[in-house]
Amino acid sequence: MVKNDPFANATKQVNDACDVLGIKDKGIREYLAMPNRILRVKIPVTMDNGKIRVFTGFRSQHNNDRGPYKGGIRYFNPEGGVEYMEREVMALSSWMTWKCAIVDVPLGGGKGGIYVNPKTEKLSENELERLTRGFAYKISEVIGPEKDIPAPDVYTTGKEMTQIMDTFSKLNGNKYSPGVITGKPISMGGSLARNVATGLGAAYTVREAAKAIKLNLKGAKVVLQGFGNASTFAGEYLEKMGAKVIAVSDSKGSISIPKGAKVSKIIEHKQKKGSVVGFPGSKKISTEELLTTKCDVLVPGALENQITAKIANKLQCKIIAEAANGPTLPEADPIIYKKKILVIPDILANSGGVCISYLEWVQNNMGYYWTFDEVANKMEKNITKGFKDAYALSKKHKIDMRKATMVLAVERVLEAFDQKGIWP
Ligand code: GLU
Repeated sequence: MVKNDPFANATKQVNDACDVLGIKDKGIREYLAMPNRILRVKIPVTMDNGKIRVFTGFRSQHNNDRGPYKGGIRYFNPEGGVEYMEREVMALSSWMTWKCAIVDVPLGGGKGGIYVNPKTEKLSENELERLTRGFAYKISEVIGPEKDIPAPDVYTTGKEMTQIMDTFSKLNGNKYSPGVITGKPISMGGSLARNVATGLGAAYTVREAAKAIKLNLKGAKVVLQGFGNASTFAGEYLEKMGAKVIAVSDSKGSISIPKGAKVSKIIEHKQKKGSVVGFPGSKKISTEELLTTKCDVLVPGALENQITAKIANKLQCKIIAEAANGPTLPEADPIIYKKKILVIPDILANSGGVCISYLEWVQNNMGYYWTFDEVANKMEKNITKGFKDAYALSKKHKIDMRKATMVLAVERVLEAFDQKGIWP
């Protein structure tokens, strides 16, 4: 058994939703929790020095009752090792199922990854390409535009997505297959607004949450944990709504900027110095101090398992927008609810990414491309409705937003499952 098993957390969330829905049947609970299939692959790569190195990769396909599996591919080396990563992708694939259901896009849940940290291991570009194409080859039988559509995730970008698409297309008789993957560069059939999608979606959900608790976003203080794609764009769009970023972090450390700073300026500093640490006018603080900073909106946009019960007891924010997947441990949820902090759970707060991935896939399938505003407006409608539906349910059943979001998502998946039944 792995420590802090993320798949156990994901399963608990499914069971909590089943409790609210009055689903007692153990078989149905298991059906909803377990992935349909987990593929674990060996990826041998000839390194630049001529030696062979073997990597391990995964693709977990959780549920496709509502449409093809959908979800990212991460390159990462979690502390718990390869065994932990297997449980992690299983959990993440489960969250993708619920994420797609909550924003009501006709897709299921999948997730994958390779146990490798391209940042710390300093693989050459050629090594990384061989690794990516080797992985694409190994999963090529189970992915496809109508089967399973991967996308970027932690430490993967449009470049890897292009290589996966190209490998898949060539393996299939050179059949142009942009719909096999999303998060592609624009010139490769990507969608406008896909790169800002997760952050923009998170900002939309914060706007709705602020309306719900009557918080004025003008001058509202924002803390960003993590300084990658999701949190930086969330920060920039919240700035456009009038908010001010007062603390941030990256993998090298956390800083507080009491007077606040423009996200673009912090990005500039990070690009020059390699970290947000040392930003002029800032003070270095611990991760715990960052998360418990007094603010209006906390955006955990880094990795899993950040908000523990201990941290939850010390939180001083009004809204938590989970731009990362699984940043809060189940032990923290009841504490946060009691403190009347409004949580926009990961499967809703970061669903802007998959929502625009869906639109990218639709554009690829029809061969016609929308403008930035058309795509962003469609996403805004889906995510805003997702928030409103979940918020109404949380009030109706007097449950926290995580449970409410899950209840809604599980209901939608069950509806599809009920129509199809089991065959063979
Ligand atoms: N990796 C992103 C997520 O966790 C995006 C997935 C997708 O676009 O398919 O939501």
